Amino acid sequence: MDPSVSKISIKKQIRKNQILRFFRAHPLLSPSDIANETQLTLPMASSLTKELADEGYIVVAEVQNSKVGRPATLYQLNPTGGYTLGITLGARKSRMILLNLKEEELDFIEYASVDLNDEENTINTLSNRIDELISKNEIPRDKILGVGFAISGLVNAKSGKSLTYFKDSTSSLQELLQEKLGFEVALENNVNAVTLGEKYFGKAKETEDAGCIHLDWGIGMGLILGGELYGGHSGLAGEIGHIRVVEGGDICSCGKIGCLETVASGRGLINKAVRLLKEGRPSIIAKKYHGDFDQIVLEDLLDAVQRGDQFSLELVEEAGKYIGKSIGTLINLLNLEKVILSGKLSQMGDALLYPIRSAIMHSSLTEMKDDVDIVISDIDVRAGCLGATTLITKKIFESVNIDADLYV
Ligand SMILES: [Zn+2]
Repeated sequence: MDPSVSKISIKKQIRKNQILRFFRAHPLLSPSDIANETQLTLPMASSLTKELADEGYIVVAEVQNSKVGRPATLYQLNPTGGYTLGITLGARKSRMILLNLKEEELDFIEYASVDLNDEENTINTLSNRIDELISKNEIPRDKILGVGFAISGLVNAKSGKSLTYFKDSTSSLQELLQEKLGFEVALENNVNAVTLGEKYFGKAKETEDAGCIHLDWGIGMGLILGGELYGGHSGLAGEIGHIRVVEGGDICSCGKIGCLETVASGRGLINKAVRLLKEGRPSIIAKKYHGDFDQIVLEDLLDAVQRGDQFSLELVEEAGKYIGKSIGTLINLLNLEKVILSGKLSQMGDALLYPIRSAIMHSSLTEMKDDVDIVISDIDVRAGCLGATTLITKKIFESVNIDADLYV
């Protein structure tokens, strides 16, 4: 192919991506709006708008009558122009979301997780569930733009490899899924996907520097720094759960001693609750289980907190102090604008939030503390799935984030 031809087509694609990105922020646009905002000439904006409409990405929304000159045609993203799937594969639950091109939710389902160590069963189950979801919503397969997966454990998003599961396979998990499903596939770690969910759909929208702390069975954190997901040198940044907060404390799942997770995660709280209840501490949880305390689950603690159980309130308060102290250190280091809490523990509401705020007050510099918002996620269980869809939509709206003029 003539290299100049390919350069022209790359340049055109970059311009189109810029226009689509602009539609994401402004639902209704005319070609002249696009020309004004993108520095394109009006004929160029009109021609690219028409091409995007012919390709099915945008449609005419309405024609505005104008008293002066020609009526303006307003376009919007075409909801049926394409669809994305976002899937989280957790240790206990898996979730799946289906969005249209306007990023509106069409379906959301939760199901018991598959055993990720059983590779064949995992791939087959996923394939069946995706087929069911697509046919239930009557979506043509060729309209699926791709599937974003968020998986627990270590993930190398660039190579599409899980470093925790499917390690023995010669192909990457991304390649295996792509081959089996027949769709484009992208992979990310669960916590990073939650963070992307908050950035594009939740409380980190319009925020350049945020920490998204997922307080659940474990404790994870994703960082948005300078408006972008921050992975660090090896993509492993954000391990707040493994900051040492207790000298000589319990052994952690990571092998170290006294990590935040041992005292403030769902796992840590349940371990402590069971230990104290066995020692005879009174609680409404004790009444429920009549001594069979190893059956206690996180939902019991959540329920007891909501019912004002003193034992449970004290446990959560102590966890909140440790979490707040760690967040305070984080705020001192990164001068964050917002900290978003999600996960099952965040549903404890004020019982957890008050001790967190109080500990932050003690451990972070006044100037920084006064400048940061500590909030609870409003997309919570959907955050990971929504974030996983952005791995695919990024390719349409954002990936070609280079200066088109370089391709002149
Ligand atoms: Zn640890």
